[in-house]
Amino acid sequence: MSKETFSKNWIIIAGPCAAESRQQVFDSALGISQIDKGIVFRAGIWKPRTNPNSWQGSGEKAISWMVDIKKQTGLAIATEVNIPQNIEKLLSAGFDSLWVGSRNSQNYDLLKEIGTQTSSNHIPIILKRGMSEYANEWIASAGYITRNNPNVIFCERGVRGPTENTTKNILDLQTACIVQDETGLPVIIDPSHASGRRDLITRMSLATKAVGLNGLMIEVHPTPNTALSDSSQQINIPHFRQLIQELNKYSSCK
Ligand code: PEP
Ligand code: MN
Repeated sequence: MSKETFSKNWIIIAGPCAAESRQQVFDSALGISQIDKGIVFRAGIWKPRTNPNSWQGSGEKAISWMVDIKKQTGLAIATEVNIPQNIEKLLSAGFDSLWVGSRNSQNYDLLKEIGTQTSSNHIPIILKRGMSEYANEWIASAGYITRNNPNVIFCERGVRGPTENTTKNILDLQTACIVQDETGLPVIIDPSHASGRRDLITRMSLATKAVGLNGLMIEVHPTPNTALSDSSQQINIPHFRQLIQELNKYSSCK
């Protein structure tokens, strides 16, 4: 199931920013699985928060919530791996994919260890772009994984720029296309962290498909206004359903 999901030209990864409670992740996953069973379900377990006083995620107990979601819905599951000590916990729990967050994109010891520990199962590793990373640095970071596991998916999630009071980051489709061309590896877009606002998610997602990139990572929460992190950029299930319908109307340029 997961092999098929990830080998497609176009993949969608969706779910809440964070796993907040068993009920919240199940509500999100059940809604998503009714839309398309080929979607990969995401939720952050250990949250990298800018402010140390912000909620830091549910931690290890959320692993079993995700495993139960995989069993009950059949969705493939993905989460962010933050430190080398947590890689084995996620692999033995049966996660289908792991992602490296923007803040860890140049954490070479973590990248090396992920490559080593996935060298036999080759599960897809999603490498988010560092928030100020150049294309050559991002590609070099991937090399720390691909020497042992060739299955890297790049994820552009917006870069730093003059965005005060408008968007959270700047979505850089240009670099995403260049990295796709130069590496031959899949490149997906995370419009949620790029924009920081839910009103732009549909248009940026359609642009992603139009330019021939390989998919999306989108934050979907059952009740975005009550989310414990990234509330303003998460979309609810009806909005996500509509987005998928819109995407299905258009083909990619590739
Ligand atoms: C996330 O996807 O939940 C996340 C924290 O994203 P980023 O690392 O891109 O900020
Ligand atoms: Mn988030």
